Amino acid sequence: MADDPQITIDDEWGARQRVRMVEEQLRARGISDARVLAAMGAVPRERFVPASTRFQAYDDGALAVGEGQTISQPYIVGYMTAELDVGAEHRVLEVGTGTGYQTAVLARLATRVYTVERLPRLAQAAAETLAALGVANVVTRVGDGSLGWPEEAPFDRIIVTAGAPGVPQTLLNQLTDGGILVAPVGELSSQRLVRVVRRGRTFHERPGIGCRFVKLIGGEGWNENGS
Ligand code: SAH
Repeated sequence: MADDPQITIDDEWGARQRVRMVEEQLRARGISDARVLAAMGAVPRERFVPASTRFQAYDDGALAVGEGQTISQPYIVGYMTAELDVGAEHRVLEVGTGTGYQTAVLARLATRVYTVERLPRLAQAAAETLAALGVANVVTRVGDGSLGWPEEAPFDRIIVTAGAPGVPQTLLNQLTDGGILVAPVGELSSQRLVRVVRRGRTFHERPGIGCRFVKLIGGEGWNENGS
């Protein structure tokens, strides 16, 4: 459950880095949601990055995590999480598990997180990290998350952490009434973080800040070769 002490701060270095990250990279840039700041102040980001980059875990940028993929900049994780406005009773779908870092942040805020990753090796590593940290309210799956998770739909919140050419309609259809989706949408080289709120059969879309994500590959995403 959201209030469980799922993740213990494992060392002083990480704890100090998190305090600094929250102040300098999140709060100073306008992220003020106390629950988001607390969640990001608690998840040990250094456990989600490759061992060789552990000491860069709290740098103000994205990091390569293997297989051509990246872990997002902390500010982007904070921004998207705040935009998602996650409540303690919410069931959340995440598309693009990657390292599982964003998953762990969401797991502190929501009742349950369903996360889909297309690359089996990343999905496996993320599941192991989450289990090692005692995060119990996450369900992982390997597959094409651009098509959502029909068996578990609808979701109160949906977050896409890979860049899509357009807002995937299949995902919008898996939102509850009043549900919110946040996704990077645009060209391969740059996107905007779009927020969509569902009201019955209508979808209210608002573009947010610019960003650059690796591509969403799949039925409602790009082809493997980028077209
Ligand atoms: N949120 C992650 C970063 C994600 S990087 C983190 O915190 O570490 C984007 C991820 O989306 C990559 O791992 C990529 O393999 C995955 N991805 C791309 N297309 C996908 C799809 N259709 N379904 C599921 N995962 C996808």
